Amino acid sequence: MREKIGVVGAGIVGLAVARELATVRGAEVTVLEKEGRVGAHQTGHNSGVVHAGIYYPPGSLKARLCREGVALLKEYCAAHGVAYQEVGKLVIASTRAERPRLSALAERARANGVPGIAELDALALREIEPHAVGVGAVHSPYTAICDFPAVARRLALDVAELGGSVRLGHPVRAIRERAGRVEVLAGRRGHVFDQLVVCGGLGTDAVARMAGAPGDVRIVPFRGEFYALKGAARDLVRGLVYPVPDPRYPFLGVHLTRQVDGRVLVGPNAVLALAYEGYRWRNFRNIGQILGWPGTLRMARSHWRTGLREVRGSLLKSAFVGDARRYVPELTAADLERAPGGVRAQAVARDGRLLDDFVVDVHGKVVLVRNAPSPAATSSLAIARHIAGIVPALVR
Ligand SMILES: Cc1cc2nc3c(=O)[nH]c(=O)nc-3n(C[C@H](O)[C@H](O)[C@H](O)COP(=O)(O)OP(=O)(O)OC[C@H]3O[C@@H](n4cnc5c(N)ncnc54)[C@H](O)[C@@H]3O)c2cc1C
Repeated sequence: MREKIGVVGAGIVGLAVARELATVRGAEVTVLEKEGRVGAHQTGHNSGVVHAGIYYPPGSLKARLCREGVALLKEYCAAHGVAYQEVGKLVIASTRAERPRLSALAERARANGVPGIAELDALALREIEPHAVGVGAVHSPYTAICDFPAVARRLALDVAELGGSVRLGHPVRAIRERAGRVEVLAGRRGHVFDQLVVCGGLGTDAVARMAGAPGDVRIVPFRGEFYALKGAARDLVRGLVYPVPDPRYPFLGVHLTRQVDGRVLVGPNAVLALAYEGYRWRNFRNIGQILGWPGTLRMARSHWRTGLREVRGSLLKSAFVGDARRYVPELTAADLERAPGGVRAQAVARDGRLLDDFVVDVHGKVVLVRNAPSPAATSSLAIARHIAGIVPALVR
């Protein structure tokens, strides 16, 4: 009899996991997704950047799975005709004080095996991005952009071709382990699986609680807001322009990112949201759970200055424009218009620490992806291989 594995969440990670388990284990997989389409949350609301692996501490899961993920994703996109363009990335130092961090970044990128890394001076960086300015830059020529929602849709087709199914409009409401199997109530239907893998993104905590595995970290949602460049201003950026990251907050710092459809996004910032799917300021739906987690307030206490700066950028377009103009001074407020944003699922520990690496837990017959923030879209096919190695072998 074929092994039956359930996967919660039809984002890029859940779909990649389902495809991998069907391929390497020959399992009959069923993906349960509450929304009416695949990739409805983080997978469909991100910057679209295939990160090359510049930032992550060598030896971390992020560093390893990002590099492996890039290779797998590039091959997958080529095989299935999904848009993938190596537009290259410049990480720009705008002051001399940032230069040592830039060199450290180049060293880290090389340690992670990122190909083609070059350190450029003020003149050389303009050969890559003629409208950008800075005192120096690190150039990563193979950093790419990709259509992640199209990857997710193609993965869903693969799952079906491998004899599995993707059930849309099936919110998981209850989970029980009984007689060595996992019973799941999704929508109005019950399913029985040998194993369950939870890739629920912003909904992870609720599903973990259903599985009796609340754990000691919680998802805290951070809204990432974007502007888009209008008309001719799009020509001011060829590829990807990033600031030197602050090592304490590597995901912060407004950047300019070209998209596969020709748009150029400016952003995202990172503002604490008070609803898991808090795409708008006025959504307070999960305020009790989010502020009730001791880690949220501890985090806010240690990072309030940065938090206020991000809120300022959210409320004042001029602050956002100011950040972007540090790197591309020709930009004006009139060149930017609001674009749809996304919400990051970031795991925060009880002591207020933001979990940096990818985290996967096993609880009986349930495998839980606890933390899969950026670059999880880039790394999705490698994360799937990693998880396939973790899902316990079936003993009947
Ligand atoms: C603003 C922003 C910019 C980003 N930029 C990049 C980038 O440039 N490059 C990169 O690699 N990564 C980027 N990321 C991160 C990347 O988008 C995510 O790491 C990745 O999409 C995570 O995929 P996922 O499948 O885990 O989550 P999701 O795509 O969020 O999927 C989780 C799914 O689970 C479903 N679900 C939840 N609860 C239930 C339930 N009870 N029952 C059934 N289904 C449920 C949800 O509906 C959802 O579809 C960015 C993220 C954001 C928000």
